[in-house]
Amino acid sequence: MLNPFENALRQLERATAVKQFDPSFIKQLTFPHREIRGHIPLKKDDGSLQMIEFYRVQHNNWRGPYKGGIRFHKDTDIEEVKALAFWMTLKCAVANIPMGGGKGGATINSKELSVSELERLSRAWMRVLVDVVGPQKDVPAPDVNTTPQIMAWMSDEYGKITGDTSGAVITGKPLEVGGSEGRGTATAQGGFYVFEALRSNFGLPDLCKVVIQGFGNAGEHAAEIWSDVGHKIVAVSDSRAAVRNPNGLDVAALIEHKKASGSVHGFAGGETFDGSELLFEPCDLLIPAALENQIREDNVARIEARVILELANGPTTPEADDFLFSKGIPVIPDILANSGGVTVSTYEWEQNIKREHWSEQEVFIRLKKNIQEQALQIFDQARNLKTDLRRSAFILALERIAKSQE
Ligand code: NAD
Repeated sequence: MLNPFENALRQLERATAVKQFDPSFIKQLTFPHREIRGHIPLKKDDGSLQMIEFYRVQHNNWRGPYKGGIRFHKDTDIEEVKALAFWMTLKCAVANIPMGGGKGGATINSKELSVSELERLSRAWMRVLVDVVGPQKDVPAPDVNTTPQIMAWMSDEYGKITGDTSGAVITGKPLEVGGSEGRGTATAQGGFYVFEALRSNFGLPDLCKVVIQGFGNAGEHAAEIWSDVGHKIVAVSDSRAAVRNPNGLDVAALIEHKKASGSVHGFAGGETFDGSELLFEPCDLLIPAALENQIREDNVARIEARVILELANGPTTPEADDFLFSKGIPVIPDILANSGGVTVSTYEWEQNIKREHWSEQEVFIRLKKNIQEQALQIFDQARNLKTDLRRSAFILALERIAKSQE
């Protein structure tokens, strides 16, 4: 079953089979508070008009304003955005930050747009949603194919319309316009802190062989962070190709190559191979950092990783989860592993509201303490309940969300 929202609801069902919650509380979480969709007219540089479908799903705000990224992708649809918004509600509760869950998107191959077209689309996205977003209502952020520059255009548009120029309406902005130190690397950095907190429990070696699917914001920074402390990045992929080197890829050179050519394809410091084979490379740690539904019933048996850490949202289907659990391969779930992004986004929001600017050191000290606390709690609970880490993370999140309703 590959509908991401249905998968998300099945994950919920499976967690509530381990620990029971009030059925009416759970039922409410299976419906988003609000689904907004429509079309943005985009005037192209050649004078033609393209109608672009957009979405904002506000899933739940019991713990705080809706919070979640905006995805520009040719395959994005309302079901995907609903799933991502649902996971944000749970993720913010796992991260113990005062935010609810939301997500946005537009069905567009943004790589085909010029810079001025992208700016017009970004500003128009904010204009159509200006009444429903805001620092105390709904605070968007970047996701796949959306950048700090896009956040800056959106923030500027919001300021022009409402007069609120604090920037707290949107996070992931460039530093010069109210972004937080550390936000760019926060998702990967948070994943690394989780890995460090749990590594000894999984019997992993001091220096691991790491494979990363996806070489964008999350994947590229993960490659840098892991390799900086001596782990070997033995293979990575992007949407075009994969590249491997059993002795470890030179990450800095690979980043340069990708910058220059647009892909990891053809990197001289490794062997280029078919990206669809990447997940099956033998390694200690596999990091999916691309899109949903990558590890599935039909391919999971070929995985040779010892541990999986999900920087992407929803990369593993429930059937694949069962298989991996039965094989003793731990999956550190997305709502914990990639929660560093939304945590530092929330720090950015807080800094904007208070008109403060925290140092990178301060940001990462806070992030590390917070995310490692959640990781250990989820790990211990999974062991006590004899369940997997995803169910345990869901249970922790549900308990916190339920508390907000007492
Ligand atoms: P991005 O757009 O910066 O990068 C996505 C990368 O995935 C690109 O390198 C792209 O080429 C690659 N990719 C796409 N399809 C692929 C495929 N089939 N095989 C291999 N690679 C493929 O996006 P991002 O921000 O890095 O997000 C990646 C994932 O991490 C998403 O699931 C996103 O929701 C999740 N995430 C991101 C953040 C964040 O702060 N950026 C936070 C939490 C979760």
